Amino acid sequence: MKDFSFKIPQNIEFGMGSLRKLPKILKESNSEHVLLISDRGLESIGVVGKIQGIIEAGVIKCTTYLEVKPNPTIAIVDEATALYKECKATSIVALGGGSPLDVAKAVGVLANHGGKITDYEGNHKVPGPVVPMIAIPTTAGTGSEVTASCVITDESRNYKMTVFSYENLPKYVVLDPELIMTAPASIAASCGVDALIHALEAYISRNASPFSDAMAEKAMELIGGNLRRFVANRQDEEAACAMMAGCNFAGIAFAWARLGNVHAMSHPVSAYFHVPHGVANSILLPTVIEYNTLADNGRYEVIYNYIRKNNEVLNGFKPEMLVEELKKLNADLGIPKSLSEVGVKEEMIEKMANDAMMSGNIPANPRQTNVKDIIELYKKAL
Ligand SMILES: [Zn+2]
Repeated sequence: MKDFSFKIPQNIEFGMGSLRKLPKILKESNSEHVLLISDRGLESIGVVGKIQGIIEAGVIKCTTYLEVKPNPTIAIVDEATALYKECKATSIVALGGGSPLDVAKAVGVLANHGGKITDYEGNHKVPGPVVPMIAIPTTAGTGSEVTASCVITDESRNYKMTVFSYENLPKYVVLDPELIMTAPASIAASCGVDALIHALEAYISRNASPFSDAMAEKAMELIGGNLRRFVANRQDEEAACAMMAGCNFAGIAFAWARLGNVHAMSHPVSAYFHVPHGVANSILLPTVIEYNTLADNGRYEVIYNYIRKNNEVLNGFKPEMLVEELKKLNADLGIPKSLSEVGVKEEMIEKMANDAMMSGNIPANPRQTNVKDIIELYKKAL
């Protein structure tokens, strides 16, 4: 067994209606003035107003920044940081899917340490504690509330850059499944498959450890057994709870085991063609899993058993069966079949492949991969 390490220095509150604990958490974190970072979509369905009400009822000042867009850019980070300084906030509440959480993490770094977010690109460049942050995920899920990375799009390079530092971990996390029960089916589907990929890539990662395996297996059990049911009916409380917990565990798994080629390849797809993260990942998944078949050491069967639709006893498992099962899952959930369906153009493949190779997830992929392999995989998924 290889050496491994982990720490979970976070306070996580899980439960239906757990938002009621927010005032106590704000008090514990000495928040006097909160910058609430979210987006216009959540404002329009009343979620921002609800959270703002809870914060203000605790006699805490609350300023909002709601201009976060999918695949958030450096310009958005700079704007939110300027507002944080101007209103003299003392803590951040991040409300939303991965994008508001990524922006909040970046603001937390810049507000305390200054400079540009590109100064902190890469691993462990954040020199010390960041602004205290309370993360409230509204999708299941990016797992961003328990990961040390923050992904921001640098438009000058059309590149999704990563700031990886344990300082980025939000101090407090509130997981209230009620918040995901209003998601549209398409978002529930693509975010749910993305979370399944987090667990799956962590599980077959070359950095997998008994700790990350435990988190990944429980995540696959919860997500695999409930994803179809949750997409079919987001008001299904049991399925919503399972998805929310499963996505969180998947996030913890990949925070310590990293991911693989699916995520390495999806970032350039999102950066160049503005395809949502979960959709890009879901499309790439069967192609990458097929490629990784050669490296399978028995784990494909475990994954297969967590996600398969039918429970009849198997008469011998072949790794190809997992590939087929993942295609079936995507089809059931209405995920597009190919990259060309979401607007990806063949002439960009070489550029995307070069960008993908810079990802820290390539060395974690179970089968060794060079730039030629990535080009072939993109062509196949096109
Ligand atoms: Zn992801």
